[in-house]
This record gives sequence, structure tokens and C-alpha cells, in this order.
Amino acid sequence: MNSDKNMSDKSLTPLSNLDEWENDVLRRYPDPSSINEDKKVEEFRNYQETEKDGVREFYRLNHKFQTYEFVTQKKADYLKFNRKEMPIWDAFSFLNQLVDDSDPDTDLDQMQHLLQTSEAIRNDKHPDWMVLVGLIHDMGKVLCLFDEPQWGVVGDTFPVGCAFSDKIVYPEFFTDNPDTYNKEYSTELGVYTRNCGLDNVHMSWGHDEYVYHMMKNYIPEPGLYMLRYHSFYSQHRENAYDHLMNDHDHEMFKWVELFNPYDLYSKNPNQKSWAELKPYYEDLVAKYLPATLKF
Ligand code: FE
Ligand code: FE
Repeated sequence: MNSDKNMSDKSLTPLSNLDEWENDVLRRYPDPSSINEDKKVEEFRNYQETEKDGVREFYRLNHKFQTYEFVTQKKADYLKFNRKEMPIWDAFSFLNQLVDDSDPDTDLDQMQHLLQTSEAIRNDKHPDWMVLVGLIHDMGKVLCLFDEPQWGVVGDTFPVGCAFSDKIVYPEFFTDNPDTYNKEYSTELGVYTRNCGLDNVHMSWGHDEYVYHMMKNYIPEPGLYMLRYHSFYSQHRENAYDHLMNDHDHEMFKWVELFNPYDLYSKNPNQKSWAELKPYYEDLVAKYLPATLKF
């Protein structure tokens, strides 16, 4: 039997907060424009052993349990959107419950990250729907508040139903995934056909896929690609899944690549206050989204 299933809640939540995963992504893909010796030293100092162990354990669980069957079950369940209906502003308050009790500094972090991302996009004069994408791209993390485990909410995403690429972070942990030993799922193409297009491919389940489906009727297609594939690092950074992509995906991934630095590198200590920003974002949300969203 699966011993992890019987472990305590604590051992299934190896990250002390969800930002630990994003800090680790930033360590793997540091900002090319701000790399210097000082920064490196500082980053090493801030990246403590406990956090590293937490991230590693997080990926062990993620790679073990994200199977084709798990993904299709979660999609069948969550994509009914029958859990909750609320205005987006309530969803942000809901998301901000995701603060970790043991770390007072994380208070409001989720909303701050969203605003920093969207404001950086806005400052660079990109289209307003891309600013909106910045604001909502991590809203799918509300999955945590529906009691989904961390490994089913965040982390790099990757296709299931075909061979796992060794370009995915911690590929060795896929030896614990039963799909690795499934004849149908373990070939290069698995259940898919060559260049079938990512829309036909099941991605590991998490906040990206969930928010994409929530928004798919409201936002222009390049924005939907940004939402859906922003954690698909093994493709947008490593090109590990060209064999599943079609020409249209490649065209759209230029937008995913444009978005990624805003997600990773937009930390701004001089962020305007929410009170100042609120009128702009209320208008922006009203322009694209309905009064309430279904979760
Ligand atoms: Fe994200
Ligand atoms: Fe993000």
C-alpha cells in the first residue's frame, strides 16, 4: 500500500508556504538582468536548508501522485465549477487566507505578488488584457482552500499520459509514479499523436489548468495560454515537449515566454498601495469579467 497516503497532514505539506515553490523556481531561473555576485551571495544566504528539503519533498510527492488518472479525476470534479460563486474581489480575500500562521511576513503576499506582476506588465504598456492576466494568474491557488494538497496546486506542470521528460525538475522522482511503468503512458507520445497540439494534452493538475478553464470565455487566446502554461517550465524554458506542440502552440508560446519574466522577476519594493490602484483594477475587471465567477 501507499505509505504516503497514511502520513500525517504535516508530511503532505512539505512547503511551509506556497511561495517556497516560487522562490525555488527563481533560484533555478535567476533574473538575467540582475545577476551579480552580491545577489548570488544573498540568495544563497536566504535559501535555507529546511526550505530546500521542503521543496525536494514537495516534488517527490508531486511526481509520485500526478498520474493520468489523478488528473482526469480532478478535471472531472473541479471543471464542474459547482463549489462556490463569488465576485473576483471576494476570491482575492479568500486567496489571502493562504497565509502561513508560522510566518507573519507572508500576510497579503498572494495579492502583492499578483499586483506586482500586473503593475510591471502595465508599466511596460502591454495590452490591458495582459495586465488582467497578471492580476489573476495565480487565482487558481484557491484550490488549497478546497483542501487540495500542495502538490496538486503548485509546482512545475508537465504532460501526463506520455513519458516524463528528464528536463522536468527532479526527474528521478518519477520512478515513484505508477505511470512510469504503464505501457500505454510511458512512450514518447503515450496516448497522444505527434504534434497533436497542447489543447489535446492533459497537463498535471494545479492552479494553472484550473484558472484557464475559469477564464476561457473571457480573455483573448494569448492570455489564456499565459494562464494555462505559466508553470510549464520544461517547455517554455527547456523545449522538452516540441513533439506534442503544433505550430499554433509555438506561436502562442511567444506570449507565454513574454509573460514569464513578469511572474518571476517583478518584485518591486515601491509598489503603489491597493487603495491607489483599486479604481483602475475595478474598471479592468468589469471590462472583461462577469460580476461573479464560479469556482
Ligand atoms: Fe503561478
Ligand atoms: Fe505567479
